Amino acid sequence: MQVVYIKEDKFQYDIHSLYKAFYPDEDVRVIVGEKGSVPEKETDISPDDEISFIDVNRDKNELKRSIYKDLSAKTGKLLPWGDLTGIRPTRIAMNLIDEGMSNKEIHDYMRETYLVSEEKTDLAIDIARREKRILSDIDYENGYSLYIGIPFCPTTCLYCSFTSYPIGAFKGIVDDYITCLEKEIDYVADAFADKTLDTVYIGGGTPTTLLPDQIRRLIGYLRDKLDMSHVKEFTVESGRPDSITRDKLIAMKEMGVTRISVNPQTMSDDTLRLIGRQHTVAQLIDSFKMAREEGFDNINMDIILGLPGETEKDVQHTIDEIVKLAPDDLTVHSLAIKRGSRLFETIREKELKGELKVSLQYSMSNTGEMMEIARMGAKTLGLEPYYLYRQKNISGNLENTGYAKEGKAGIYNILINEEVQSIVALGAGTVTKRVFGEGGRIERCDNIKDVKLYMDNIEEMIRRKRELFERL
Ligand code: SF4
Repeated sequence: MQVVYIKEDKFQYDIHSLYKAFYPDEDVRVIVGEKGSVPEKETDISPDDEISFIDVNRDKNELKRSIYKDLSAKTGKLLPWGDLTGIRPTRIAMNLIDEGMSNKEIHDYMRETYLVSEEKTDLAIDIARREKRILSDIDYENGYSLYIGIPFCPTTCLYCSFTSYPIGAFKGIVDDYITCLEKEIDYVADAFADKTLDTVYIGGGTPTTLLPDQIRRLIGYLRDKLDMSHVKEFTVESGRPDSITRDKLIAMKEMGVTRISVNPQTMSDDTLRLIGRQHTVAQLIDSFKMAREEGFDNINMDIILGLPGETEKDVQHTIDEIVKLAPDDLTVHSLAIKRGSRLFETIREKELKGELKVSLQYSMSNTGEMMEIARMGAKTLGLEPYYLYRQKNISGNLENTGYAKEGKAGIYNILINEEVQSIVALGAGTVTKRVFGEGGRIERCDNIKDVKLYMDNIEEMIRRKRELFERL
């Protein structure tokens, strides 16, 4: 464990994040006080732990630079994003562009202030300029976006961190769940009557666990109640290929859906089985081709780097197969499997039973090389990076990146990432975000995660939203 003592309660989060970036596999404790001021038994400190003392009484950037340099010298590591610990590094580039800085000035600033590599600064500038162009005709103040969560999936993937219930056991409540969504839509129709709806995103979960008639019912209600004439993008995540049928694709197309996701995560059947995604590569390819046949001309694919047992060679194979299918968007996620997580424990159990070809000693996190393979694949497909966010405590301090063809970028993805527009979120486990004017404060309200409790308390969910949007 890494233990850091600071005298004053300042910059605790930044210090913790920076230490975690250098020591992703270790616990990190930042303790306010002198050594000995907190009884060691209360902090689990053992004689083997490394203890540091940091004077926090200085400028935050200077403090972070000095910690970075110390830890880099100690570990021999260089972090591509330097000492930046926030999840939205493109926003800094965006602000600097708004201030009128040239690319060279931004490079100097990012290097001197945050020790960011030239390559990552290039990426941040490239994405920030593209985002600005894509969002140029969005009215942040008078517009809003809508998110609808469908919390059901065919089965639960072992790495899942979303609200998800297996559809088999929950299919009896889906119609009532849609009734609750309709009540929330009624609220939106009333409260946002004088606002412009810019984008709609139905996510989850897996929205394509709904039956074709349920898809028609939900989207039909939306179309009846809300003015959809300004909607620039209507996405439905159809993530799991084992939930996609031709009838559902036809229903979505009929109802005006413009963008879908068909997600492989990997093109290895062995890995799919290992991570509990109960579909095959062949099913993915069939679903993708079926979606093309039904006229979908904006299809996203999600992949995950750092899946258990996968090497650069596996990632290259996944990318080669994806290039053959030629999706319009490609979203590249990083996965760091934490010790103690359900996926980690499942793999270990299987390994102990001798059921696995892979071993835990293989890479369990992505590498810069894997990200480069994905970047090159996107380039081959003519896709450009258009949004980027970093997960906290990702090993190697790497990022998740969305790539898209010109004109096919997911506008909603940028809006949620940059937090520039209010997003009203309906359904169990969703979070509504209100942005108070451009550059203004952001406040949130959430819907209960448990699907049955959400349904039992639907009036309360609506009351929370009303209270958030009536607040001054
Ligand atoms: S498809 Fe997505 S939401 Fe559903 S269980 Fe898998 S990871 Fe979770």
